[in-house]
Amino acid sequence: MTDCLFCKMINGDIPVNKIYENKDVLAFHDINPQAPHHFLVIPKTHIKTLNDTDDAQLLGKLTLTASRITKELGFADEGYRVVMNCNEQGGQTVYHIHLHCLGGRALTWPPG
Ligand code: 5GP
Ligand code: ZN
Repeated sequence: MTDCLFCKMINGDIPVNKIYENKDVLAFHDINPQAPHHFLVIPKTHIKTLNDTDDAQLLGKLTLTASRITKELGFADEGYRVVMNCNEQGGQTVYHIHLHCLGGRALTWPPG
């Protein structure tokens, strides 16, 4: 999608602080980190919200990419959180699905 921020990152139209990429997914540091570690994992296909996909394999790849990166960055054992916001009340602001992964501090529960 040409007017999607994350599609522009995938296409190389705007710069991205990339952590990892393969044919299916892209992971990059969040521009406004909410924890010492905060990165996003996105599919390379444009999917607007979690309500718009039943691709279990792709959703699994997002999650497993996140967990692998936490190991590589060295905070898997301390712990972390993965979360996907959906639509307005879920706090979604970018309408191309993305898994947040946050770590590096004790996270409170429940989230706001
Ligand atoms: P949402 O609120 O949709 O769940 O999360 C969107 C996330 O994308 C936010 O955490 C926000 O900081 C991040 N974000 C928005 N614009 C950019 C950008 O241009 N670059 C990067 N790296 N992250 C962005
Ligand atoms: Zn997109």
